[in-house]
Amino acid sequence: MTDQFDSLNNPDYPIPDELKSNVAITTLDRLYNWSRARSVWPLMFGLACCAIEMIAVAAARYDQARFGMEVVRPSPRQADLMIVSGTVTKKMLPQIVRLYNQMPEPRYVLAMGACASGGGPFKEGYNVVDGIDKFVPVDVYVPGCPPTPQALLHGFLALHAKIERQSVRTVPWYREGKGEAVPIPILGPDLIDPRQAALIRAQAAAGAEAVAENAASQEEQTNG
Ligand code: SF4
Repeated sequence: MTDQFDSLNNPDYPIPDELKSNVAITTLDRLYNWSRARSVWPLMFGLACCAIEMIAVAAARYDQARFGMEVVRPSPRQADLMIVSGTVTKKMLPQIVRLYNQMPEPRYVLAMGACASGGGPFKEGYNVVDGIDKFVPVDVYVPGCPPTPQALLHGFLALHAKIERQSVRTVPWYREGKGEAVPIPILGPDLIDPRQAALIRAQAAAGAEAVAENAASQEEQTNG
């Protein structure tokens, strides 16, 4: 908080000498963001090999408790950071989106590793989503396969920097209509994103029409 105290020497806001050691002046944004950035509680879950590196960050050597993050929550309702650490399969995706919806605002998402960021080595796989950001908003990407614990710590610092740039007057969670739930993808023969439902229906209708036209023209040729 050193720079907060610099304002004590600001000639625009003179403070009597006898008060200088007892008074600190700052902005509401700085106080609000400083306290939020130093108490980010991650949600406890891991998806694949990246989770091992995430667990290492919580252990004594890297010690994420130094950043006010020692409280790793087993409930999304008490967490404000989702670390998506590992391969996001289509089967797991509905659960991830459901957990995200259950987190209160303000909430952040960190995509850890190549798989969570873009599908990684399984990008073209039949069962893998090519990036969690197609479904929930991602605030910080940490590259690597897997990222080192140091890289994840750097991701935490990047998130702190992002939080510190926010302003209480413009943050989205105090705005009307924000914080709405993300539609949960439906797992059937393949994954269906409800946001694409109208497009999928239109494509299916166009496909059915084309098949019917094709069948009619073939019948005509046979009869004719
Ligand atoms: S990015 Fe690499 S280490 Fe991480 S989950 Fe994917 S394959 Fe595993």
